[in-house]
Amino acid sequence: MTTIENVSPTNAGSMMQNPLLISSILDHAVRCHGDVEVVSRRCEGDIHRYTYADVAQRAKQLANALQAHGIAAGARVATLAWNGYRHLEIYYAVSGMGAITHTINPRLFPEQIAYIANHAEDEILFFDLTFLPLVEAVAPKLHNVKTYILLADKTHMPATTSLANLHCYEYFIAAHSANFAWPALDEDAPASLCYTSGTTGNPKGVLYTHRSTVLHTVGANAPDGFGLNSDSVVLPVVPMFHVNAWGIPYICPAYGCKLVFPGPALDGASLYQLFEQEAVTMSAGVPTVWLGLLNHVRSNNLRFSTFKETVIGGSACPPAMLREFEDVYGVTVIHAWGMTELSPLGTVCRLKRAQKLLSAEAQFAIKVKQGRSIFGVDMKIVGSDGAALAHDGKAFGDLHVRGSWVCARYYKETESALINGWFPTGDVATIDADGFMQITDRSKDVIKSGGEWISSIELENLAMAHPAVMEAAVIGVAHSKWDERPLVLVVLKPNTTLTSAELLQFYEGKIAKWWMPDDVVFVEKLPHTATGKLLKTQLRDEYRAHFLAK
Ligand code: AMP
Repeated sequence: MTTIENVSPTNAGSMMQNPLLISSILDHAVRCHGDVEVVSRRCEGDIHRYTYADVAQRAKQLANALQAHGIAAGARVATLAWNGYRHLEIYYAVSGMGAITHTINPRLFPEQIAYIANHAEDEILFFDLTFLPLVEAVAPKLHNVKTYILLADKTHMPATTSLANLHCYEYFIAAHSANFAWPALDEDAPASLCYTSGTTGNPKGVLYTHRSTVLHTVGANAPDGFGLNSDSVVLPVVPMFHVNAWGIPYICPAYGCKLVFPGPALDGASLYQLFEQEAVTMSAGVPTVWLGLLNHVRSNNLRFSTFKETVIGGSACPPAMLREFEDVYGVTVIHAWGMTELSPLGTVCRLKRAQKLLSAEAQFAIKVKQGRSIFGVDMKIVGSDGAALAHDGKAFGDLHVRGSWVCARYYKETESALINGWFPTGDVATIDADGFMQITDRSKDVIKSGGEWISSIELENLAMAHPAVMEAAVIGVAHSKWDERPLVLVVLKPNTTLTSAELLQFYEGKIAKWWMPDDVVFVEKLPHTATGKLLKTQLRDEYRAHFLAK
Protein backbone atom coordinates (compact mmCIF):
# COMPACT_ATOMS: atom_id res chain seq x y z
CA MET A 1 0.00 0.00 0.00
CA THR A 2 1.23 3.49 -0.77
CA THR A 3 1.43 5.51 2.40
CA ILE A 4 2.39 9.08 3.05
CA GLU A 5 5.64 7.77 4.56
CA ASN A 6 6.89 6.01 1.44
CA VAL A 7 6.25 8.54 -1.31
CA SER A 8 8.57 11.29 -2.26
CA PRO A 9 7.76 14.45 -0.27
CA THR A 10 8.40 16.69 -3.25
CA ASN A 11 5.95 15.11 -5.70
CA ALA A 12 3.21 13.92 -3.38
CA GLY A 13 0.21 15.86 -2.24
CA SER A 14 0.10 16.52 1.45
CA MET A 15 -3.12 14.75 2.31
CA MET A 16 -3.75 11.60 4.33
CA GLN A 17 -4.31 8.40 2.46
CA ASN A 18 -6.90 6.75 4.63
CA PRO A 19 -7.96 3.61 2.81
CA LEU A 20 -11.66 3.53 1.84
CA LEU A 21 -12.87 0.54 3.85
CA ILE A 22 -16.31 -0.92 4.52
CA SER A 23 -15.44 -1.24 8.22
CA SER A 24 -15.11 2.56 8.35
CA ILE A 25 -18.83 2.85 7.53
CA LEU A 26 -19.83 0.82 10.56
CA ASP A 27 -17.27 2.55 12.79
CA HIS A 28 -18.75 5.88 11.73
CA ALA A 29 -22.30 4.66 12.38
CA VAL A 30 -21.33 3.62 15.90
CA ARG A 31 -19.69 6.97 16.61
CA CYS A 32 -22.43 9.18 15.17
CA HIS A 33 -25.61 7.08 14.88
CA GLY A 34 -25.07 4.35 17.44
CA ASP A 35 -28.62 4.56 18.77
CA VAL A 36 -30.36 4.54 15.37
CA GLU A 37 -32.61 1.54 14.96
CA VAL A 38 -32.39 -1.44 12.65
CA VAL A 39 -35.76 -3.19 12.55
CA SER A 40 -36.27 -6.59 10.91
CA ARG A 41 -39.21 -8.83 10.19
CA ARG A 42 -37.70 -12.25 10.82
CA CYS A 43 -38.30 -15.58 9.11
CA GLU A 44 -39.32 -16.72 12.59
CA GLY A 45 -42.34 -14.41 12.12
CA ASP A 46 -41.69 -11.73 14.76
CA ILE A 47 -40.18 -8.24 14.62
CA HIS A 48 -36.62 -7.77 15.87
CA ARG A 49 -35.17 -4.36 16.72
CA TYR A 50 -31.77 -3.15 17.82
CA THR A 51 -29.28 -0.39 16.93
CA TYR A 52 -26.18 0.24 14.84
CA ALA A 53 -24.14 -0.08 18.03
CA ASP A 54 -25.54 -3.61 18.39
CA VAL A 55 -24.83 -4.39 14.72
CA ALA A 56 -21.17 -3.51 15.27
CA GLN A 57 -20.92 -5.54 18.43
CA ARG A 58 -22.38 -8.68 16.88
CA ALA A 59 -20.47 -8.20 13.61
CA LYS A 60 -17.26 -8.24 15.66
CA GLN A 61 -18.37 -11.37 17.48
CA LEU A 62 -19.04 -12.95 14.10
CA ALA A 63 -15.64 -11.86 12.76
CA ASN A 64 -13.97 -13.52 15.75
CA ALA A 65 -16.06 -16.66 15.24
CA LEU A 66 -15.19 -16.83 11.54
CA GLN A 67 -11.52 -16.35 12.26
CA ALA A 68 -11.62 -19.09 14.90
CA HIS A 69 -13.32 -21.28 12.31
CA GLY A 70 -10.38 -20.83 9.92
CA ILE A 71 -11.90 -18.31 7.51
CA ALA A 72 -8.97 -16.31 6.15
CA ALA A 73 -8.68 -13.07 4.21
CA GLY A 74 -9.96 -13.52 0.65
CA ALA A 75 -12.13 -16.55 1.49
CA ARG A 76 -15.62 -16.53 -0.01
CA VAL A 77 -18.43 -16.63 2.53
CA ALA A 78 -21.82 -17.30 0.96
CA THR A 79 -25.29 -16.25 2.03
CA LEU A 80 -28.76 -17.39 1.00
CA ALA A 81 -30.79 -14.94 3.02
CA TRP A 82 -33.54 -12.34 3.03
CA ASN A 83 -33.11 -8.74 4.11
CA GLY A 84 -32.52 -8.91 7.84
CA TYR A 85 -30.22 -7.91 10.68
CA ARG A 86 -28.17 -11.11 10.71
CA HIS A 87 -27.51 -10.69 7.00
CA LEU A 88 -26.31 -7.15 7.75
CA GLU A 89 -23.94 -8.48 10.42
CA ILE A 90 -22.49 -10.89 7.84
CA TYR A 91 -21.99 -8.03 5.34
CA TYR A 92 -19.86 -6.10 7.82
CA ALA A 93 -18.10 -8.97 9.61
CA VAL A 94 -16.97 -10.76 6.47
CA SER A 95 -15.86 -7.75 4.42
CA GLY A 96 -14.50 -6.03 7.51
CA MET A 97 -12.18 -8.93 8.36
CA GLY A 98 -10.91 -9.09 4.76
CA ALA A 99 -12.96 -12.03 3.49
CA ILE A 100 -15.56 -11.78 0.71
CA THR A 101 -19.33 -11.71 1.23
CA HIS A 102 -20.91 -13.69 -1.57
CA THR A 103 -24.67 -13.13 -1.68
CA ILE A 104 -26.49 -15.81 -3.68
CA ASN A 105 -29.95 -15.26 -5.13
CA PRO A 106 -32.18 -18.03 -3.71
CA ARG A 107 -34.65 -17.56 -6.55
CA LEU A 108 -32.18 -19.07 -9.01
CA PHE A 109 -32.57 -22.69 -10.06
CA PRO A 110 -30.71 -25.08 -7.70
CA GLU A 111 -28.31 -26.01 -10.54
CA GLN A 112 -27.41 -22.32 -10.98
CA ILE A 113 -26.91 -21.92 -7.22
CA ALA A 114 -24.55 -24.90 -7.21
CA TYR A 115 -22.72 -23.55 -10.27
CA ILE A 116 -22.25 -20.15 -8.63
CA ALA A 117 -21.15 -21.50 -5.23
CA ASN A 118 -18.66 -23.86 -6.91
CA HIS A 119 -17.36 -21.19 -9.25
CA ALA A 120 -16.83 -18.86 -6.27
CA GLU A 121 -15.36 -21.74 -4.20
CA ASP A 122 -17.51 -20.71 -1.26
CA GLU A 123 -16.20 -22.23 1.98
CA ILE A 124 -19.08 -21.56 4.30
CA LEU A 125 -22.76 -20.90 3.72
CA PHE A 126 -25.08 -18.89 5.95
CA PHE A 127 -28.80 -19.32 5.22
CA ASP A 128 -32.24 -18.38 6.47
CA LEU A 129 -34.76 -20.89 7.81
CA THR A 130 -36.83 -20.56 4.63
CA PHE A 131 -34.00 -22.04 2.61
CA LEU A 132 -33.26 -25.16 4.66
CA PRO A 133 -34.92 -27.51 2.09
CA LEU A 134 -33.12 -25.71 -0.76
CA VAL A 135 -29.74 -25.94 0.99
CA GLU A 136 -30.29 -29.62 1.84
CA ALA A 137 -31.07 -30.28 -1.83
CA VAL A 138 -28.04 -28.46 -3.29
CA ALA A 139 -25.49 -29.38 -0.57
CA PRO A 140 -24.39 -32.66 -2.24
CA LYS A 141 -23.42 -30.61 -5.32
CA LEU A 142 -21.37 -27.99 -3.42
CA HIS A 143 -17.71 -28.92 -3.72
CA ASN A 144 -16.10 -26.43 -1.34
CA VAL A 145 -18.64 -25.63 1.37
CA LYS A 146 -17.47 -27.27 4.58
CA THR A 147 -19.76 -25.51 7.05
CA TYR A 148 -23.43 -24.55 7.00
CA ILE A 149 -24.82 -21.97 9.40
CA LEU A 150 -28.53 -21.51 9.96
CA LEU A 151 -29.44 -17.89 10.72
CA ALA A 152 -31.52 -18.69 13.78
CA ASP A 153 -31.35 -19.44 17.48
CA LYS A 154 -31.22 -22.90 19.07
CA THR A 155 -34.99 -23.23 19.27
CA HIS A 156 -35.33 -23.03 15.49
CA MET A 157 -32.74 -25.66 14.63
CA PRO A 158 -34.18 -28.63 12.73
CA ALA A 159 -34.53 -31.87 14.68
CA THR A 160 -33.03 -33.79 11.78
CA THR A 161 -31.14 -32.68 8.69
CA SER A 162 -29.07 -34.18 5.90
CA LEU A 163 -26.49 -31.37 6.29
CA ALA A 164 -23.29 -32.81 7.72
CA ASN A 165 -21.84 -29.75 9.41
CA LEU A 166 -24.75 -27.55 10.43
CA HIS A 167 -24.29 -24.83 13.08
CA CYS A 168 -26.70 -22.48 14.77
CA TYR A 169 -25.83 -18.80 14.09
CA GLU A 170 -26.60 -17.55 17.57
CA TYR A 171 -24.57 -20.35 19.11
CA PHE A 172 -21.77 -19.84 16.55
CA ILE A 173 -21.19 -16.23 17.65
CA ALA A 174 -22.27 -16.38 21.31
CA ALA A 175 -18.98 -17.49 22.85
CA HIS A 176 -16.91 -14.91 20.97
CA SER A 177 -15.71 -11.54 22.10
CA ALA A 178 -17.08 -8.27 20.70
CA ASN A 179 -13.52 -6.94 20.62
CA PHE A 180 -12.15 -7.10 17.13
CA ALA A 181 -9.87 -4.59 15.47
CA TRP A 182 -10.87 -4.29 11.84
CA PRO A 183 -7.65 -4.78 9.83
CA ALA A 184 -6.23 -1.89 7.81
CA LEU A 185 -6.83 -3.57 4.46
CA ASP A 186 -5.76 -2.32 1.07
CA GLU A 187 -8.76 -0.38 -0.24
CA ASP A 188 -8.51 -2.31 -3.51
CA ALA A 189 -8.98 -5.61 -1.70
CA PRO A 190 -12.14 -7.51 -2.73
CA ALA A 191 -15.08 -7.14 -0.34
CA SER A 192 -18.17 -8.71 -1.87
CA LEU A 193 -19.23 -10.81 -4.81
CA CYS A 194 -22.46 -10.88 -6.77
CA TYR A 195 -23.30 -12.89 -9.87
CA THR A 196 -25.36 -11.45 -12.69
CA SER A 197 -28.58 -13.31 -13.17
CA GLY A 198 -28.18 -13.44 -16.93
CA THR A 199 -31.10 -14.92 -18.83
CA THR A 200 -28.74 -16.95 -21.01
CA GLY A 201 -25.41 -18.67 -20.37
CA ASN A 202 -23.74 -19.12 -17.01
CA PRO A 203 -23.97 -16.31 -14.45
CA LYS A 204 -20.87 -14.11 -14.25
CA GLY A 205 -19.37 -12.80 -11.03
CA VAL A 206 -18.67 -9.16 -10.23
CA LEU A 207 -16.15 -8.77 -7.41
CA TYR A 208 -16.58 -5.41 -5.67
CA THR A 209 -13.71 -3.87 -3.76
CA HIS A 210 -13.76 -1.87 -0.53
CA ARG A 211 -12.89 1.23 -2.52
CA SER A 212 -15.60 0.72 -5.15
CA THR A 213 -18.18 0.06 -2.43
CA VAL A 214 -17.33 3.13 -0.36
CA LEU A 215 -17.21 5.38 -3.43
CA HIS A 216 -20.57 3.97 -4.58
CA THR A 217 -22.00 4.62 -1.12
CA VAL A 218 -21.07 8.29 -1.34
CA GLY A 219 -21.92 8.66 -5.04
CA ALA A 220 -25.29 6.90 -4.87
CA ASN A 221 -26.38 8.96 -1.88
CA ALA A 222 -25.56 12.35 -3.39
CA PRO A 223 -28.40 14.89 -2.94
CA ASP A 224 -29.57 14.32 -6.52
CA GLY A 225 -29.04 10.58 -6.05
CA PHE A 226 -30.83 8.73 -3.24
CA GLY A 227 -30.39 11.82 -1.08
CA LEU A 228 -30.94 10.02 2.25
CA ASN A 229 -30.09 11.54 5.62
CA SER A 230 -30.58 11.06 9.35
CA ASP A 231 -34.30 11.92 8.99
CA SER A 232 -34.83 9.01 6.64
CA VAL A 233 -36.44 5.69 7.50
CA VAL A 234 -35.57 3.31 4.71
CA LEU A 235 -37.12 -0.01 3.82
CA PRO A 236 -35.19 -1.74 1.05
CA VAL A 237 -37.55 -4.12 -0.72
CA VAL A 238 -34.77 -4.82 -3.19
CA PRO A 239 -33.05 -7.89 -1.75
CA MET A 240 -29.61 -7.94 -0.19
CA PHE A 241 -28.88 -10.77 -2.64
CA HIS A 242 -29.50 -8.46 -5.61
CA VAL A 243 -26.46 -6.18 -5.98
CA ASN A 244 -26.20 -5.53 -2.24
CA ALA A 245 -29.76 -4.14 -2.09
CA TRP A 246 -28.58 -1.31 -4.36
CA GLY A 247 -26.07 -0.19 -1.72
CA ILE A 248 -28.68 0.65 0.93
CA PRO A 249 -27.07 -1.51 3.67
CA TYR A 250 -23.97 0.71 3.31
CA ILE A 251 -25.72 4.05 2.75
CA CYS A 252 -28.02 3.82 5.79
CA PRO A 253 -25.36 3.34 8.48
CA ALA A 254 -23.08 5.86 6.74
CA TYR A 255 -25.78 8.55 6.79
CA GLY A 256 -27.62 7.61 9.97
CA CYS A 257 -30.90 6.42 8.45
CA LYS A 258 -33.17 4.06 10.34
CA LEU A 259 -33.17 0.77 8.45
CA VAL A 260 -36.24 -1.47 8.18
CA PHE A 261 -35.85 -4.98 6.76
CA PRO A 262 -38.93 -6.78 5.42
CA GLY A 263 -37.50 -10.33 5.69
CA PRO A 264 -39.35 -12.84 3.54
CA ALA A 265 -42.74 -11.05 3.65
CA LEU A 266 -42.78 -9.09 0.40
CA ASP A 267 -46.54 -9.24 -0.28
CA GLY A 268 -48.50 -5.98 -0.41
CA ALA A 269 -50.25 -6.43 2.96
CA SER A 270 -47.06 -7.22 4.94
CA LEU A 271 -45.11 -4.40 3.33
CA TYR A 272 -47.89 -1.89 3.94
CA GLN A 273 -48.13 -2.91 7.59
CA LEU A 274 -44.36 -2.43 8.08
CA PHE A 275 -44.33 0.90 6.19
CA GLU A 276 -46.99 2.24 8.56
CA GLN A 277 -45.74 0.66 11.78
CA GLU A 278 -42.13 1.85 11.34
CA ALA A 279 -42.93 5.25 9.75
CA VAL A 280 -40.98 4.41 6.59
CA THR A 281 -40.19 7.47 4.47
CA MET A 282 -38.27 5.91 1.60
CA SER A 283 -38.09 2.59 -0.17
CA ALA A 284 -36.55 0.97 -3.24
CA GLY A 285 -37.43 -1.96 -5.44
CA VAL A 286 -38.24 -3.35 -8.88
CA PRO A 287 -41.61 -2.57 -10.53
CA THR A 288 -43.06 -6.05 -9.87
CA VAL A 289 -42.98 -5.62 -6.07
CA TRP A 290 -44.79 -2.31 -6.36
CA LEU A 291 -47.55 -3.95 -8.40
CA GLY A 292 -48.36 -6.05 -5.31
CA LEU A 293 -48.22 -3.12 -2.87
CA LEU A 294 -50.32 -0.85 -5.10
CA ASN A 295 -52.89 -3.59 -5.60
CA HIS A 296 -53.18 -3.96 -1.84
CA VAL A 297 -53.60 -0.26 -1.05
CA ARG A 298 -55.93 0.27 -4.03
CA SER A 299 -58.24 -2.62 -3.19
CA ASN A 300 -58.35 -1.75 0.53
CA ASN A 301 -58.67 1.98 -0.03
CA LEU A 302 -55.59 2.74 2.10
CA ARG A 303 -53.23 5.71 2.26
CA PHE A 304 -49.59 6.02 3.31
CA SER A 305 -48.93 8.21 6.37
CA THR A 306 -45.15 8.67 6.09
CA PHE A 307 -44.01 7.10 2.81
CA LYS A 308 -42.69 9.98 0.68
CA GLU A 309 -40.29 8.64 -1.95
CA THR A 310 -39.51 5.41 -3.69
CA VAL A 311 -36.69 4.46 -5.99
CA ILE A 312 -37.87 2.24 -8.83
CA GLY A 313 -35.37 0.47 -11.05
CA GLY A 314 -34.19 -2.92 -12.23
CA SER A 315 -36.72 -2.70 -15.08
CA ALA A 316 -38.36 0.31 -16.65
CA CYS A 317 -40.86 1.92 -14.29
CA PRO A 318 -44.20 1.83 -16.14
CA PRO A 319 -45.47 5.43 -16.47
CA ALA A 320 -48.88 4.32 -15.18
CA MET A 321 -47.21 3.18 -11.94
CA LEU A 322 -45.40 6.49 -11.62
CA ARG A 323 -48.68 8.39 -12.04
CA GLU A 324 -50.54 6.26 -9.52
CA PHE A 325 -47.82 6.59 -6.87
CA GLU A 326 -47.53 10.35 -7.33
CA ASP A 327 -51.10 11.44 -8.17
CA VAL A 328 -53.08 9.07 -5.97
CA TYR A 329 -50.73 8.38 -3.06
CA GLY A 330 -48.43 11.41 -3.01
CA VAL A 331 -45.31 9.23 -3.15
CA THR A 332 -42.58 10.68 -5.36
CA VAL A 333 -41.11 8.12 -7.72
CA ILE A 334 -37.39 8.31 -8.40
CA HIS A 335 -36.70 6.31 -11.48
CA ALA A 336 -33.18 4.87 -11.45
CA TRP A 337 -31.06 2.67 -13.66
CA GLY A 338 -28.16 0.43 -12.89
CA MET A 339 -26.81 -3.06 -13.12
CA THR A 340 -24.83 -5.64 -11.16
CA GLU A 341 -21.72 -4.52 -13.03
CA LEU A 342 -22.24 -0.95 -11.73
CA SER A 343 -22.57 -1.75 -8.00
CA PRO A 344 -25.40 -0.99 -9.22
CA LEU A 345 -26.22 2.70 -9.54
CA GLY A 346 -25.69 4.57 -12.81
CA THR A 347 -28.48 7.09 -13.17
CA VAL A 348 -31.16 8.69 -11.01
CA CYS A 349 -34.03 10.74 -12.37
CA ARG A 350 -34.44 13.92 -10.37
CA LEU A 351 -35.58 17.07 -12.12
CA LYS A 352 -33.33 20.10 -12.40
CA ARG A 353 -34.47 23.48 -11.09
CA ALA A 354 -35.58 24.82 -14.48
CA GLN A 355 -37.48 21.62 -15.24
CA LYS A 356 -39.58 22.01 -12.11
CA LEU A 357 -41.09 25.12 -13.71
CA LEU A 358 -42.38 23.13 -16.70
CA SER A 359 -45.98 21.94 -17.07
CA ALA A 360 -46.97 18.80 -15.17
CA GLU A 361 -47.04 16.80 -18.41
CA ALA A 362 -43.60 18.05 -19.49
CA GLN A 363 -42.20 17.11 -16.07
CA PHE A 364 -43.82 13.71 -16.35
CA ALA A 365 -42.17 13.11 -19.74
CA ILE A 366 -38.78 13.64 -18.05
CA LYS A 367 -39.58 11.56 -14.95
CA VAL A 368 -40.24 8.42 -17.00
CA LYS A 369 -36.67 8.58 -18.28
CA GLN A 370 -34.01 6.62 -16.38
CA GLY A 371 -32.26 9.85 -15.40
CA ARG A 372 -28.92 11.61 -15.21
CA SER A 373 -25.70 9.82 -14.38
CA ILE A 374 -24.67 10.37 -10.80
CA PHE A 375 -21.30 12.03 -10.30
CA GLY A 376 -18.71 9.28 -10.67
CA VAL A 377 -20.32 7.58 -13.68
CA ASP A 378 -19.70 8.67 -17.30
CA MET A 379 -22.06 7.57 -20.05
CA LYS A 380 -22.08 7.62 -23.81
CA ILE A 381 -24.12 6.01 -26.57
CA VAL A 382 -22.44 4.52 -29.62
CA GLY A 383 -23.64 3.35 -33.02
CA SER A 384 -22.86 -0.02 -34.61
CA ASP A 385 -19.51 1.41 -35.84
CA GLY A 386 -18.55 2.31 -32.27
CA ALA A 387 -18.73 6.07 -32.94
CA ALA A 388 -20.31 8.22 -30.24
CA LEU A 389 -23.83 9.44 -31.02
CA ALA A 390 -25.36 12.82 -30.27
CA HIS A 391 -26.93 13.57 -26.89
CA ASP A 392 -30.09 14.95 -28.48
CA GLY A 393 -32.71 12.69 -26.93
CA LYS A 394 -33.40 11.15 -30.34
CA ALA A 395 -30.35 9.20 -31.49
CA PHE A 396 -30.27 5.81 -29.83
CA GLY A 397 -27.40 3.39 -29.55
CA ASP A 398 -25.50 1.02 -27.25
CA LEU A 399 -25.01 2.50 -23.81
CA HIS A 400 -21.40 2.44 -22.56
CA VAL A 401 -20.33 3.54 -19.08
CA ARG A 402 -17.18 4.02 -17.03
CA GLY A 403 -16.45 4.95 -13.46
CA SER A 404 -14.83 3.94 -10.17
CA TRP A 405 -17.59 1.44 -9.30
CA VAL A 406 -17.95 -0.09 -12.76
CA CYS A 407 -16.77 -3.67 -13.40
CA ALA A 408 -13.65 -3.94 -15.55
CA ARG A 409 -13.39 -7.74 -15.69
CA TYR A 410 -15.66 -10.55 -14.54
CA TYR A 411 -14.54 -12.69 -11.62
CA LYS A 412 -11.93 -15.29 -12.62
CA GLU A 413 -11.93 -14.05 -16.23
CA THR A 414 -8.63 -12.99 -17.70
CA GLU A 415 -10.09 -10.85 -20.47
CA SER A 416 -11.25 -7.31 -19.93
CA ALA A 417 -15.01 -6.73 -20.13
CA LEU A 418 -14.37 -3.28 -21.62
CA ILE A 419 -14.37 -1.79 -25.11
CA ASN A 420 -11.80 1.02 -25.34
CA GLY A 421 -12.01 1.54 -21.60
CA TRP A 422 -15.83 1.64 -21.45
CA PHE A 423 -18.20 -1.02 -20.16
CA PRO A 424 -20.82 -2.00 -22.76
CA THR A 425 -24.05 -2.34 -20.81
CA GLY A 426 -26.08 -4.29 -23.36
CA ASP A 427 -28.77 -1.61 -23.10
CA VAL A 428 -29.92 0.60 -25.94
CA ALA A 429 -30.61 4.20 -24.96
CA THR A 430 -30.96 7.85 -25.84
CA ILE A 431 -29.33 10.69 -23.89
CA ASP A 432 -30.79 14.20 -24.11
CA ALA A 433 -29.04 17.56 -23.99
CA ASP A 434 -29.72 17.82 -20.23
CA GLY A 435 -27.96 14.48 -19.69
CA PHE A 436 -31.12 12.43 -19.09
CA MET A 437 -30.73 8.88 -20.34
CA GLN A 438 -33.69 6.80 -21.49
CA ILE A 439 -33.46 3.06 -22.08
CA THR A 440 -35.34 2.04 -25.20
CA ASP A 441 -34.54 -1.63 -24.78
CA ARG A 442 -32.16 -4.33 -23.73
CA SER A 443 -30.28 -4.89 -27.01
CA LYS A 444 -31.46 -8.51 -27.07
CA ASP A 445 -35.09 -7.41 -26.66
CA VAL A 446 -35.26 -4.77 -29.40
CA ILE A 447 -37.83 -5.75 -32.03
CA LYS A 448 -36.31 -5.61 -35.49
CA SER A 449 -39.04 -5.06 -38.04
CA GLY A 450 -38.27 -4.44 -41.72
CA GLY A 451 -34.77 -3.20 -40.85
CA GLU A 452 -36.08 -0.68 -38.26
CA TRP A 453 -36.13 -0.97 -34.46
CA ILE A 454 -39.23 -0.94 -32.29
CA SER A 455 -38.89 -0.34 -28.53
CA SER A 456 -40.52 -3.16 -26.57
CA ILE A 457 -40.38 -1.04 -23.39
CA GLU A 458 -42.39 1.77 -24.98
CA LEU A 459 -45.08 -0.64 -26.16
CA GLU A 460 -45.22 -2.24 -22.70
CA ASN A 461 -45.51 1.14 -20.99
CA LEU A 462 -48.42 2.09 -23.24
CA ALA A 463 -50.24 -1.20 -22.59
CA MET A 464 -49.77 -0.75 -18.85
CA ALA A 465 -51.35 2.69 -19.05
CA HIS A 466 -54.65 0.96 -19.91
CA PRO A 467 -56.76 0.80 -16.74
CA ALA A 468 -57.50 -2.93 -17.15
CA VAL A 469 -53.87 -4.00 -17.60
CA MET A 470 -51.85 -5.16 -14.61
CA GLU A 471 -48.72 -6.28 -16.42
CA ALA A 472 -47.62 -6.45 -20.06
CA ALA A 473 -44.71 -7.92 -21.97
CA VAL A 474 -43.94 -7.14 -25.59
CA ILE A 475 -41.67 -9.42 -27.60
CA GLY A 476 -40.50 -9.59 -31.20
CA VAL A 477 -41.80 -12.73 -32.88
CA ALA A 478 -40.54 -14.11 -36.20
CA HIS A 479 -42.58 -12.88 -39.15
CA SER A 480 -42.33 -14.11 -42.76
CA LYS A 481 -42.41 -10.64 -44.29
CA TRP A 482 -41.05 -8.23 -41.68
CA ASP A 483 -38.46 -10.41 -39.95
CA GLU A 484 -40.04 -9.71 -36.52
CA ARG A 485 -43.29 -8.15 -35.40
CA PRO A 486 -44.42 -7.11 -31.89
CA LEU A 487 -46.69 -9.40 -29.87
CA VAL A 488 -48.24 -8.14 -26.61
CA LEU A 489 -48.83 -10.51 -23.70
CA VAL A 490 -51.15 -9.12 -21.08
CA VAL A 491 -52.14 -9.99 -17.51
CA LEU A 492 -55.40 -8.24 -16.61
CA LYS A 493 -56.20 -6.66 -13.25
CA PRO A 494 -58.64 -8.71 -11.18
CA ASN A 495 -62.31 -8.30 -12.22
CA THR A 496 -61.63 -6.50 -15.48
CA THR A 497 -62.24 -7.43 -19.11
CA LEU A 498 -60.49 -6.30 -22.26
CA THR A 499 -60.41 -7.53 -25.86
CA SER A 500 -57.46 -7.52 -28.24
CA ALA A 501 -59.25 -5.01 -30.46
CA GLU A 502 -59.82 -2.66 -27.52
CA LEU A 503 -56.16 -2.74 -26.49
CA LEU A 504 -54.97 -2.19 -30.07
CA GLN A 505 -57.36 0.71 -30.35
CA PHE A 506 -55.81 2.13 -27.19
CA TYR A 507 -52.47 2.25 -29.03
CA GLU A 508 -54.01 4.22 -31.96
CA GLY A 509 -52.55 7.70 -32.29
CA LYS A 510 -49.91 7.06 -29.60
CA ILE A 511 -47.36 5.30 -31.80
CA ALA A 512 -46.23 5.19 -35.42
CA LYS A 513 -48.48 2.89 -37.48
CA TRP A 514 -45.72 0.38 -38.13
CA TRP A 515 -45.12 0.01 -34.38
CA MET A 516 -48.70 -1.27 -33.90
CA PRO A 517 -48.50 -4.75 -32.30
CA ASP A 518 -49.77 -7.50 -34.60
CA ASP A 519 -51.57 -9.41 -31.87
CA VAL A 520 -52.47 -9.50 -28.18
CA VAL A 521 -52.50 -12.65 -26.04
CA PHE A 522 -54.10 -12.66 -22.58
CA VAL A 523 -52.25 -14.79 -20.01
CA GLU A 524 -52.72 -15.66 -16.32
CA LYS A 525 -49.20 -14.61 -15.39
CA LEU A 526 -45.87 -13.68 -16.95
CA PRO A 527 -42.53 -15.38 -16.20
CA HIS A 528 -39.91 -13.37 -14.30
CA THR A 529 -36.19 -13.80 -13.72
CA ALA A 530 -34.73 -14.30 -10.26
CA THR A 531 -34.42 -10.52 -9.95
CA GLY A 532 -37.99 -9.75 -11.01
CA LYS A 533 -37.43 -8.83 -14.66
CA LEU A 534 -39.67 -10.18 -17.41
CA LEU A 535 -38.15 -13.41 -18.68
CA LYS A 536 -38.42 -12.61 -22.35
CA THR A 537 -36.21 -15.49 -23.52
CA GLN A 538 -38.88 -17.90 -22.26
CA LEU A 539 -41.69 -15.90 -23.87
CA ARG A 540 -39.82 -15.75 -27.18
CA ASP A 541 -39.36 -19.54 -27.08
CA GLU A 542 -42.99 -20.11 -26.21
CA TYR A 543 -44.42 -17.80 -28.87
CA ARG A 544 -41.74 -18.42 -31.51
CA ALA A 545 -44.24 -19.69 -34.10
CA HIS A 546 -47.12 -17.36 -33.21
CA PHE A 547 -47.15 -15.35 -36.44
CA LEU A 548 -45.73 -18.06 -38.67
CA ALA A 549 -48.57 -20.35 -37.64
CA LYS A 550 -51.14 -17.76 -38.72
P1 AMP B 1 -29.13 -6.51 -13.07
O1 AMP B 1 -27.68 -6.64 -13.29
O2 AMP B 1 -29.81 -7.80 -12.77
O3 AMP B 1 -29.42 -5.47 -12.06
O4 AMP B 1 -29.78 -6.02 -14.45
C1 AMP B 1 -29.35 -4.86 -15.09
C2 AMP B 1 -30.23 -4.55 -16.25
O5 AMP B 1 -31.56 -4.26 -15.81
C3 AMP B 1 -29.85 -3.31 -17.01
O6 AMP B 1 -28.79 -3.55 -17.91
C4 AMP B 1 -31.14 -2.95 -17.72
O7 AMP B 1 -31.35 -3.73 -18.87
C5 AMP B 1 -32.17 -3.33 -16.69
N1 AMP B 1 -32.59 -2.15 -15.94
C6 AMP B 1 -32.19 -1.73 -14.72
N2 AMP B 1 -32.82 -0.61 -14.36
C7 AMP B 1 -33.66 -0.28 -15.38
C8 AMP B 1 -34.58 0.78 -15.62
N3 AMP B 1 -34.83 1.73 -14.72
N4 AMP B 1 -35.23 0.79 -16.80
C9 AMP B 1 -35.02 -0.17 -17.73
N5 AMP B 1 -34.18 -1.20 -17.55
C10 AMP B 1 -33.50 -1.26 -16.39
